[in-house]
This record gives sequence, C-alpha cells and structure tokens, in this order.
Amino acid sequence: MSLEAALRAALGDAHVLVDPELRAPYETDWTGRFTGKARCVVRPADTAQVAEVLRGCAAEGAPVVIQGGNTGLVGGGVPAGGEVLLSLARLGELEPVDRAAGAVTAGAGVRLAGLQAHARAAGLDFGVDLAARSAATVGGLVATTAGGIHVLRHGSMRSQVVGVEAVLADGTVLTRLAGLAKDNTGYDLSQLLTGSEGTLAVLTRVRLKLVPLAAHRAVALVGVAGTQQAQDLLAVARDRLRSLQAAEICYADGLALVREHNRLSAPFAEAYPAYAVLECAGGTDPTDDLLEALAEAPAVLDATVASDSAGRARLWAYRESLTEAVNAAAVDAGGVPVKLDVCVPAGALPEVVAALPETVAGVAPAARTIIWGHLNEANLHVNVLGAQERAEQVSEAVLRLVAAAHGSISSEHGVGRAKARWLSLSRSGAEIAVLRRIKQALDPAGLLNPGVLFAE
Ligand SMILES: Cc1cc2nc3c(=O)[nH]c(=O)nc-3n(C[C@H](O)[C@H](O)[C@H](O)COP(=O)(O)OP(=O)(O)OC[C@H]3O[C@@H](n4cnc5c(N)ncnc54)[C@H](O)[C@@H]3O)c2cc1C
Repeated sequence: MSLEAALRAALGDAHVLVDPELRAPYETDWTGRFTGKARCVVRPADTAQVAEVLRGCAAEGAPVVIQGGNTGLVGGGVPAGGEVLLSLARLGELEPVDRAAGAVTAGAGVRLAGLQAHARAAGLDFGVDLAARSAATVGGLVATTAGGIHVLRHGSMRSQVVGVEAVLADGTVLTRLAGLAKDNTGYDLSQLLTGSEGTLAVLTRVRLKLVPLAAHRAVALVGVAGTQQAQDLLAVARDRLRSLQAAEICYADGLALVREHNRLSAPFAEAYPAYAVLECAGGTDPTDDLLEALAEAPAVLDATVASDSAGRARLWAYRESLTEAVNAAAVDAGGVPVKLDVCVPAGALPEVVAALPETVAGVAPAARTIIWGHLNEANLHVNVLGAQERAEQVSEAVLRLVAAAHGSISSEHGVGRAKARWLSLSRSGAEIAVLRRIKQALDPAGLLNPGVLFAE
C-alpha cells in the first residue's frame, strides 16, 4: 500500500489532500516569501492519528513538515519541496480551566484568541498576547517560544508551559501533562520541546499556566525624540508602574505606513521621530498612575492615554498594524518584505537602530528599512522593503551587525529555514554540536522539519 493510501485509511479521504488546489493554502507562508510543494497535506484529528501518520512516514523514510496556524515568519512551517505537510489545525480541544491549579490543557491546534477567551470566561487570562492571535496556534506558539507584547510582565511562552504531550518521529507518544509546581525527576522534556521549532517532536497537547485577569487597562501612545529617549521613558515607567505590562517602540516612517494602510488620523498635531506604546493593567484602574508617570518623564514630548476598550484599540492599532501595513506596501511594490527579528543588549539598542538603515543600504541601496519592536526586551523587528532580490545579503548584513553587538539573530520568531545558515553567529560550535546530538537522539533519520534550525 502507498503512503498516501495508508494515510487515507488512517485519517479518512477528506483529510489527506493531494490535489494541488487544496494543498496550495498550506504551501506558502504568511509573508509570501517562503513556498514549496508538499507531497500531500494531512489533517489528523487527535494524538493517536498524529502517531499513525508519523509511524507511516517513518516506515517509508518520508520527511514531514509541521504546521499550526502558518503565521510563523521564518519559513519553518511550509515545505521546501516534497515533504508530507502535517497540519495540527484539527487538534482544537480545550479542556475546562483548572482554577485550583490556575492552568489549562489545550490541543496544539487551539488558536491564541480562543485560548484567551476560554481563560477569560473562567476569570483568568493567558500571559502571552500577539497581533497574530486570531490564527497562531498553541503548538506553533510553543514550538517557537513566541514572545509578544506582554513578555515584560509574564515572560514568553517558555514561562507559560508546564507540561506537554508530543509524538516523536517514530510515533512514540510522550505524555507529561500533570503540570506539577515542583517536579525534579530528571530532564525537563516539556522545556526541551519548547522552542524546538518542530525539529524534535510534534506537540499535540500543552498544559499552560494562566495569569490573573486584569479588570482595568490603560494605554498610552507617547511621542519621543528617539530610541534613547524611549528607553529613558521606559526606565521611569518600570520604576513607577507596577501595573506596566507592555512597552513597544516604533518610528515615524512605520507610523506613516500604518496611517496610510489603515486610513488612520495622526495621533498628534506634530510628527515625532519615535513613538512608545505603554500598557498598564490591574485590578484597579491604572490610568491616574500612568498619567502621573508620564508627567514625570522628561522624555515625553506628547502623549495620549485611553482607558476605554475602543480608545485602547485605537492606540494599539498604530503599533499592531505595522506587520500588515509593511506586507501590503511590499505587495503593492510587487514583492515581499525581508523580515528579521533580533535582540540586542539594551545598552546597544540606540546605536544598532541608528546603524541599521545604513547597514541595509550598503547591500541594497534602494531598500527601505522599517523598524519596530518590543522595547523592554530590546527586541527589534527589522523589515526591509524593496530588497527581495537581495534578501540573503540583507539578512547577512543585519545579522552580522547584531552579532557584533553581542545580540541574538532570533529573538522570538525562531531560526526556521530563513536563518539556519547563520545559526553560528549566535551559537558556538560546541553548542551546535550538542543541539545536533539532541536532534539525532530524538529524530535519528532527520524526518521532522528538515532544513529548519540546522542548514542542510
Ligand atoms: C501579524 C503578526 C504578528 C506577529 N507577532 C508576533 C509577536 O509579537 N511575537 C512572536 O513571538 N511572534 C509573532 N508573530 C509570529 C507568529 O505568530 C508566531 O511565531 C507563532 O508562534 C506561530 O504560530 P503558528 O501556529 O502560526 O505556527 P506555524 O507558523 O504554523 O509554525 C511555526 C513553527 O512551529 C512549528 N510548529 C507548529 N505547530 C507545531 C506543533 N504542533 N508541534 C511542533 N512544531 C510545530 C512549525 O513547524 C514551524 O517551525 C507574528 C506573526 C504575524 C503574522
């Protein structure tokens, strides 16, 4: 029996897609930059079916690419060519919230927005939030150790994961979902698989910690003179505001792009070189504290604050629509953006931001560099328009600049296929050798996500 026939027998005809038109939506990533043809797309419904798929692929030596919501930005969830594409979208089960433990178990295919709504209905919340919330899945978020806008307060996905269920390349199922507060019984496999980008196992269920639900929120959009001044503002906010949960930065060119794309009015009478978005949340209304902190911060050139839900969404739109606005601008210009997600030491942030446009211009003179990021973590999203033909050169130049500043070439999106060839800029030879030995131990035939993390 062929692999496709065995997969049909296991999952049913409707969930093994071989027709090119049916496969197509799975084969290109969110940015449009990474694309490849899958051998077929399979859509298992539960852990047992995932294990059957992997056993079948292992028997034939068929490589597998794993996909959740396909919002990853480094080409890790789309085929390079010829792999079986394993979609976890149907693993959408959400167990009841465990209030005693402050935790919940979610299927890998549960979308972030669904998880948030589920937690909030039980009077709790989920600690990670990001703009792709309507599509990004629990499996993808854990596999990439996603960060987002609340890392300052709650940490990244790594801090939320307390247990996982996963299937190894040979079909072995590992289940460790108790999520005990204390459990010192050897290597922590849940944390090993967190951030493994689908190279070690397929996550099928995850036990996640929940956080208190904040009844009140306030958001400020602040005009500042530059990166250093935004950091000065952040220092005041961190000192004064225990309710601070987000601190973001963007610049005049990005804000102009968002305004054009979303037809938004200018937030202030004057344009400023940089803008910070601060969000506070708590059991009591943080608006007055936020206003007082802004009044005491010399870096503030102008500020607007909103506490009602519509007003907060209006202010967040200037920052959260950047990814979509940049994509739309790239498509209008007949291309796709080159997107890089990097982290630098906080002290190096102003000089790296200042050096980026020139660094990019050095290899792609006609390109436009739009930067924004998570200010507290000094995590920059570097987006380059008009450089599609020079994508490799732009990536190399930016990642070398970051490495020279002792930063990381991937802050939250992962290494994927996009940055695999530059892994050695952030990890030593000895570290890469250990990573490869771990990969070899769990997936000896190298069937899971080949080309992701390690260049082939
Ligand atoms: C508008 C926008 C804003 C974003 N903002 C942020 C942000 O602020 N912070 C941030 O961190 N990211 C952000 N991202 C990136 C993206 O949303 C995250 O990387 C997210 O975690 C990807 O989830 P996904 O389900 O779409 O995964 P996919 O894109 O499907 O996959 C991502 C990686 O995880 C692997 N994978 C997926 N599911 C599984 C599984 N069940 N088991 C094992 N491996 C798996 C894939 O093979 C791939 O390597 C943003 C993306 C967009 C489009």
